[in-house]
Amino acid sequence: KIFLGIETSCDDTAVALIDATEKSVLKHCIHQQIEHQAFGGVVPDLASKGHAKHLPTLLNTLLRSACIDKEEIQGIGVTAGPGLAGGLLVGVMFAKGVAITLKKPLWAINHLQAHALVARLCYDVQFPYLALLFSGGHCEFVVVYSATEFYLLGYGLDDAAGECLDKVGRRLGFSFPAGAAIEVAAKMGDPFSVALPIPMRDKSLNFSFSGLKSAALRWINSEGEKTLSFEKKANLCASLQYAIGQGIQKKIENFFENLPPESNPHTAIFCGGVAANQYLRQVLEASFLRHNVRFLTPPPKFCTDNGMMIAWNAYEKCQAGVPPSMNFSIRARWPISI
Ligand code: ATP
Ligand code: FE
Repeated sequence: KIFLGIETSCDDTAVALIDATEKSVLKHCIHQQIEHQAFGGVVPDLASKGHAKHLPTLLNTLLRSACIDKEEIQGIGVTAGPGLAGGLLVGVMFAKGVAITLKKPLWAINHLQAHALVARLCYDVQFPYLALLFSGGHCEFVVVYSATEFYLLGYGLDDAAGECLDKVGRRLGFSFPAGAAIEVAAKMGDPFSVALPIPMRDKSLNFSFSGLKSAALRWINSEGEKTLSFEKKANLCASLQYAIGQGIQKKIENFFENLPPESNPHTAIFCGGVAANQYLRQVLEASFLRHNVRFLTPPPKFCTDNGMMIAWNAYEKCQAGVPPSMNFSIRARWPISI
C-alpha cells in the first residue's frame, strides 16, 4: 500500500511516498529553508511563505521521480499540528486540495505521534513500547500502546534539548539548527573540561534544559564570545552533550526504579531530531541494555522532520480503522496524548 506524507510544521517542507506494506521509502523530497539562518531561529512568516512557494514543485518532483501511477496511492497524511500555525495551514490546505484532486482519503497527523511511530517503519517493533522523544520543541517520555494510544509519563517543563543546543550553538556562531554542528565539534572536545550542571536530577520523569542552557551561555560570556578558540568551543560542545546525556540517563534510572522488573518494556526507542546524535544514542543505549531492554533509534533522516513519518502514520491510522476526514483544522498546540 502506497501512502503520501506532507510535512510543513516548522522550517522543513517535506513530502514522501512510502510503500507501507514493504516498509520501504519510494521517494523523499525535502526542502530545508536556509533563509532563517540569518535570524538564528525560525521566522514564522518566512516559513509559511517558503512552504507555499516550494510545496507544489516538491510534490511534482516527488510524483515524477517515484515512478508510480497516482492511482496507486492509497491514502494521504498531512501534519495538522503541533507547530507553527502559518506553515500548518499551508500544508493542510494544500493536502486537502491534493486529496480532492486525486480522490484519495486524507488523515490529519499529529507530528509528535509521527516521530514516535516511525520506528515501526524502520524496524520490527511491536506495541506497547517506550518512546523517548527529543526534538527542537519537545522532550517526552511516552508509552506507545497502539497507533492511536499514547501515554505521557514525563515532559519538558521549559527549553527542549534541541532548543538548548540551538541556542548555545547560535552563540558559538554555528548555523541554525545547531545540533549537528555541535555533535561534530564535540568529537574534538573534552567532555570533562567545562563544569556544567546535570539538568533536573529530581525523581520525576520531567525534563528541563533551560538551566543548562543558561550555564553554557554564562560560560561563553565569561570566556569572551568573540575570542573563543575552536578548541574551547569544542570543549563546551562535548561538555554540553555530556550533561544532556547524564540528565537523560538519570530519568531512565528513575523510570526503572519505579517499575517492577516483570513489567519492563520489551523495546525502547529514541526519536525526534536530537536522536540523530550518535553520542546520545550510545549513552541511552547503554542505559537500556543494562536493564535488558531492546533499544532502537531510526536512522538520522527519519529522526529529524521528514515526510516518511507522516505517510507512515497515515498508514497506521488506516490499519487501525481510523476514518479519514476532510473536516479538520490545524492545531498549533496538540499534545501527543489526546
Ligand atoms: P518538534 O518536533 O518538537 O515540533 P522540530 O520539528 O522543530 O520540533 P525536529 O526536526 O524533530 O524538531 O528536531 C530538530 C532539532 O534536532 C533541532 O533542535 C536540532 O538542533 C536537533 N538536531 C538535529 N540533528 C542533531 C544532532 N546530530 N545532534 C543533536 N541535535 C540534533
Ligand atoms: Fe519534529
